[in-house]
Order: sequence, then C-alpha cells, then structure tokens
Amino acid sequence: MDFNLTRQQEMLRDAVHEFADAELAPRALELDEKGEFPFDIVKRTAEIGLVGIMTPKEYGGTEMGHLARMIAIEEISRVYPPLGFFFQTGHLGHWSLQTYGTEEQKRKYLPPLCKGEMVICDAITEPSGGSDPTTTQTTAELAGNEFIINGRKVYITLAGVADLACVLAKTDDKFNEILVEKGTPGFEITRRESIAGFRTTPVNEIAFTDCRVPKSNLIGQEGKGLGIGLSAISVIGRTGVAGIGLGIARGCYEAALKFAKERKLYGKPIGELQAIQFALVDMNVEIEAIKWLSYYAAWQIDQGKGIREIGVDIARAKLLGCDLANKVAPKAVQIMGGYGLSEEYHVVRRLRDALHLFPAAGTQEIMKVTIGRSIMA
Ligand SMILES: Cc1cc2nc3c(=O)[nH]c(=O)nc-3n(C[C@H](O)[C@H](O)[C@H](O)COP(=O)(O)OP(=O)(O)OC[C@H]3O[C@@H](n4cnc5c(N)ncnc54)[C@H](O)[C@@H]3O)c2cc1C
Repeated sequence: MDFNLTRQQEMLRDAVHEFADAELAPRALELDEKGEFPFDIVKRTAEIGLVGIMTPKEYGGTEMGHLARMIAIEEISRVYPPLGFFFQTGHLGHWSLQTYGTEEQKRKYLPPLCKGEMVICDAITEPSGGSDPTTTQTTAELAGNEFIINGRKVYITLAGVADLACVLAKTDDKFNEILVEKGTPGFEITRRESIAGFRTTPVNEIAFTDCRVPKSNLIGQEGKGLGIGLSAISVIGRTGVAGIGLGIARGCYEAALKFAKERKLYGKPIGELQAIQFALVDMNVEIEAIKWLSYYAAWQIDQGKGIREIGVDIARAKLLGCDLANKVAPKAVQIMGGYGLSEEYHVVRRLRDALHLFPAAGTQEIMKVTIGRSIMA
C-alpha cells in the first residue's frame, strides 16, 4: 500500500482542526490558569471518537489507527497541548490492554476508557531513574491468588485523576505489568508535581503499601512486564510526543506568521524584514519535513510493522518532534517582541508545554542511544 493520507484521515484532520479552534481555543487560557483536569473536554473528545481512536470497534473504539491518532494529537496540540498529552499518556494503558490484556480485561475496561468515563495512567518511573527501568524496586509478591504491591512511583501523568493504573513491579526477579484500580486499599496518590507546563494534566507520585490485587489483574504473560511497558512507551508514547511536538510547532508558527503580517515597523509588516521572513521560512520547512517523517513512522505501525522493525523510525520522530517544538516556540516568542511573552498571544504557554517533551517517553539521549545502536550494528 502506498504511503499517503486516506480520505478518512484527511476528513479527521479537518474535523479535529475545527473542533480545536471552536472548543479549545476560547478556553485555553482559562484552563491553564485553573490547572484543573478538563473532564468535560475529555468526554467531548470521546464523543467524537478520539479517545478510542486506535481501539478495535468491538471494544468501543473507532479503530482509525496510529496515523489517525498522530494527526488528531497534532491538531489538538496545535491549540491546547495538555490535551494532546492526555492522549499521549492515557493511550499507553489503552494499548497495553488491547494488545496484551485478557478478554475479560478488555471487555471490562476498554469500553468505559473509550467513552471517557474512565482514565488510565501508566506507572513505570521510580526515583531510581526513568531511563533504566530495570532498576524498578516496586515489588509485587505473589500470595495465593493475589499480588501484594509495595513501592513508589514518581512523575506519573494522570495518576491523580485516573481510575486505573498500569503498574510495573517485580515479582522475585521477574517484571510484571499489573492493573490497580483507584480505591484499592494501599494505593495512594502522595503528591502532585509542580511542573512548568501541561498545567491541566496532573503529574503525581504514587505510594503502594501492602496493596492487594487479584492475580487476574496481570497484563500479558507472567514475567513479560518490562517488554510490555517499554513497547507501549516506544509505540504509543513516542509517536504521541512526535504529534504533540508537531502541534506545538504549528501553533507557534501560525501565531508568529499572523503577527509578522500584522505588525508594522518602518511603514511595512515586519514579515517583509528578511531576518524575520527567513526565520518563518525555516519553521515552515522544518515542520513540513518532520511532519512527513513522523507520519511515515505512524503509518508503518498501521501496516503491521513491529517495534523491532520500526523502533528507530519512531525514535527519530520523537527526537525531531521534541526538538522542533523547542526550536519553533522560543523563536516565535522572539519574533513577537515583547508581545511574545504575553499570555494573550498563546505562544509562551506552548513554550512551557514544549519543555515537557524532553523527558517524555524517553529522553532525547535515549532516542540517540536507540538510533546509535542501530547505525553501529
Ligand atoms: C511531565 C512528565 C511526565 C511523565 N509521565 C510519566 C508517566 O506517565 N509514567 C512514567 O512511568 N514516567 C513518566 N515520566 C518520567 C519520564 O519517563 C522520565 O523522566 C524519563 O524517563 C527520564 O527519567 P529520569 O527523569 O529519572 O532521568 P534519568 O533517567 O535519571 O536521566 C538523567 C539524565 O541522564 C541521561 N541519560 C540517561 N541514560 C543515558 C544514556 N544511556 N546515555 C546518555 N545519557 C543518558 C538522560 O537523558 C538525562 O539527561 C514523566 C516525566 C515528566 C517530566
């Protein structure tokens, strides 16, 4: 099959673009100021099929695929990146369940997740270091038909609002991914991080103290948890970051371009000053190039390619999407002079959000480690 956008993907792009302009843009400043998780908006995006975008129809999804998901995240993040981050992280759990979950787990959790009635978080990182999850110290001791979980997770996006957590823990010397429902005794949200951006998407610490869950909450085969967790981060997390990076870059570029056409100095729009025009040209060219590189990575997932085949393509997209946002956003602030720093121009807000893409789904250095291994092989 040729690589191109289908008619359905083009229609989705246009529909999400309109939705973001009509329903997110007018609320973006207020949402950021309040910093509360927008449950109503999540419900709206579920109604239009975005929350279940990559989930099979039989489990309540719209089954539009990974390229469609990236396009939707991009269009949303063009206007309000924290909502893109909700999809980037929430979908980790959706994907782990739909790919490795038992039939019972899929029937129980996927339909309410796709309807936006439930939220799921993915809890891997610990204080011992996110880049090396083999240092996981959280334990899940098997006692009869139950796991007893003890430990601590840090920087877990959505944990504070989640109904369900996908938790990486060690049983003896093996890793397991285990579902823990909110309200289970011994499962406690102990802190909300004070972070620079993504203000409506909470990032929390979790503590587990003798937290007992049924053995049937295991996702996938016993001992395969590390592979499941890392695959979710690679396939879902990194393509999600690429989409957010593209969206932030486009939002900032569009704002800077509009400003450069309207702001007049020396009797003409500043966009006619060559230094400013060339900066806008650089943005335009890089966005277009990185967009197609990223779409191609997502498209290959839709063609059934596995992480071993396309992990490097996805790592390139994450690396470049993050760098793109963090290059375009500050340049847009600069082009807009003093106005760039005003919240009313919506660029400095996106710059704050862009910073979070550095560590998300693996740091830039870890992307280079992945790509480096491949070119040296
Ligand atoms: C806003 C936010 C949301 C997050 N959401 C989640 C979530 O939902 N779930 C979750 O489990 N985690 C989440 N994380 C954690 C995230 O995955 C980690 O921050 C990330 O993996 C890096 O881990 P670390 O912060 O412990 O840094 P470390 O792993 O300690 O790394 C420190 C530095 O060393 C560098 N480094 C590490 N290894 C190498 C290497 N081999 N070569 C060269 N340099 C290297 C890193 O690039 C980094 O610069 C989130 C983090 C943030 C900031």
